[in-house]
Amino acid sequence: MRIILLGPPGAGKGTQARILTEKYGIVHIAAGDLFRENIKNKTALGLQVEEILKAGTLVPDEITIKMIAARLDQPDCKNGFILDGFPRTVAQAEALEEMLKKKAIKLDAAVQMAVDDDELVERISGRFTCSACGEGYHDKFKKPHDPDTCDKCGAKDKFTRRPDDNAEAVRTRLGVYHSQTKPILPFYEERGLLKTVDGMAPMKDVTAQILALFGAKDAPAKGFQVKKNG
Ligand code: AMP
Repeated sequence: MRIILLGPPGAGKGTQARILTEKYGIVHIAAGDLFRENIKNKTALGLQVEEILKAGTLVPDEITIKMIAARLDQPDCKNGFILDGFPRTVAQAEALEEMLKKKAIKLDAAVQMAVDDDELVERISGRFTCSACGEGYHDKFKKPHDPDTCDKCGAKDKFTRRPDDNAEAVRTRLGVYHSQTKPILPFYEERGLLKTVDGMAPMKDVTAQILALFGAKDAPAKGFQVKKNG
């Protein structure tokens, strides 16, 4: 399974990618996570992009493409991957097409998660994450049982909020999505790869819709990589 998840910030791309990754053992490549990891580790790349992420604008294509190309070269990508947050511009989509052509790899689909803009601001501004295990939560839609403790891994006082999940940066990120990322939808439509799911549906239903695109409901479809312990 080699798919791209497309959609505005807050559409649930990361959540769906994590569910599919856990279930099928495919690699989840999230451009934003890779940048944040570099910022956390204060690498040269991290220092270069920190202010850009805070503002909610896009990292230049050249830098982003180089980072993703290096990630796709890793051996764990051989059996499949979910790209989340990349590509975000037509130039990135073209570069990805070239990269995959060189590897003789074909994409299965570009899955667009359609969501109403109005809903997005509420979704994004309420979200927080367990920094120990990466589980996502929300002030309104998914509260942990104990406000200070992660339901999944039990870590205490490890919840963090992204610095770009404030109202101003969210507005910028939505604007960037409409002006720079939406134009890649026709790119994938022309190639017969664009599929759309209803990102407003409950989380489980969105997962089911994505799986149905690949001929699977709850069970992994032929060709999916199934984790041995999953
Ligand atoms: P995300 O976690 O996907 O919301 O991304 C967080 C931030 O990382 C974005 O607002 C951008 O600043 C940067 N970023 C992530 N993916 C890309 C990309 N494909 N191209 C340029 N910048 C990106």
